[in-house]
Amino acid sequence: MIDLANEQTAPCFSGADRLRGALEQAGWRCTRQRAGVFNYLCSVESHPTAEEVYLAVRRRLPKISLATVYKALEALVDSHLADKLTSGDGPARYDCHNDAHYHFHCLDSGDVHDLPVPYDPHLIDKLDPDIVESLRRQNFHVTGYRLEVFGHFKSK
Ligand SMILES: [Zn+2]
Repeated sequence: MIDLANEQTAPCFSGADRLRGALEQAGWRCTRQRAGVFNYLCSVESHPTAEEVYLAVRRRLPKISLATVYKALEALVDSHLADKLTSGDGPARYDCHNDAHYHFHCLDSGDVHDLPVPYDPHLIDKLDPDIVESLRRQNFHVTGYRLEVFGHFKSK
């Protein structure tokens, strides 16, 4: 359920103009809760789940509900301020570093980190120079790709 009663319009802090502009352009109001979620997401490298965002943001905004956090994350994704990372196993994670990049994923903890290599927009062509055209002939239009490296941290 969406907790609209808990959302008041309030001045956003830190990066306020960018946040407000992007939210309002996508038809969302800039609320204190959405600013709090955005600021937290930008402050961490860990690509947190909605639950983790909730537990962290609640320390600063004790009245925020999990439903409000979900709605804030939806607003940020819809406004292209954050990306939602979904995988087959485990809950979605959120990433406000939304320039194109790759991830590596720990199968033990579920944590997702940015991979420190430059993004290559032509990687698909390198795998198979005909694949995009071949898919197009099947009426499938390629708009992008994701690459995730996964494994375990080896214990010492
Ligand atoms: Zn990332």
